[in-house]
Amino acid sequence: MRLRRIPRAGEYIAAHPELAVVGGEELKGNWQSLFAAAQPIHIEIGMGKGGFINEMARQNPAINFIGIEVYDSVLLRALEKLVAQPLPNLRLLHADAANLQEVFEQGEISKIYLNFSDPWPKKRHAKRRLTHKHFLSVYQGILIDGGKLQLKTDNRSLFEYSLWSFNHYGMAFSDVSVDVHADPEAYPDNVMTEYERKFHGLGQPIYLLEADFKNR
Ligand code: SAM
Repeated sequence: MRLRRIPRAGEYIAAHPELAVVGGEELKGNWQSLFAAAQPIHIEIGMGKGGFINEMARQNPAINFIGIEVYDSVLLRALEKLVAQPLPNLRLLHADAANLQEVFEQGEISKIYLNFSDPWPKKRHAKRRLTHKHFLSVYQGILIDGGKLQLKTDNRSLFEYSLWSFNHYGMAFSDVSVDVHADPEAYPDNVMTEYERKFHGLGQPIYLLEADFKNR
């Protein structure tokens, strides 16, 4: 994602602590306290401008959502939406995926979404892919028993790598698709992300993987 740094982002985020958390380590084990009701928590890692997580929160009031983003200038856009139209079941977190075991207790998260994660195509950058085994271990450390990890991407190489990585890690697949939009009835609850709209609009297939860690 090409980034334009927005100097006021940090200040704006700090001014809305009720909606956006920075770091989050102090909330470990206590994330339900941020929400109106205690209910399962789903997170999106790398939410970008937050279109997906915002719509998911609207459509699923019995789930609490946390949108996570490492760049404050991007999180700013999601926060502006939330400030304009607050939702009782959506909060944002400015943090790096690599640190999530310092932020969430084991079992605090019920589902993880990775949408259109940066593909890092060079082999020497494989460790940066959010589906590398080091990240899978972080996710395993925060999910409930049987909690699912879902990936959507337009990138065939990231899809193939993630298929291999999940399988190699011993994860159990519950869903695999090489074209989410091929059959409109296949994913009736699919919520499109900003990137998905763009790539689907260009006629590119959208790949999906869903798996859990129950075999380990
Ligand atoms: N999920 C959105 C969508 O589908 O429209 C945005 C996709 S964008 C290509 C990937 C996003 O992941 C970027 O906003 C980037 O800043 C964020 N990101 C990359 N590495 C991350 C990390 N380690 N932790 C949290 N967010 C990360």
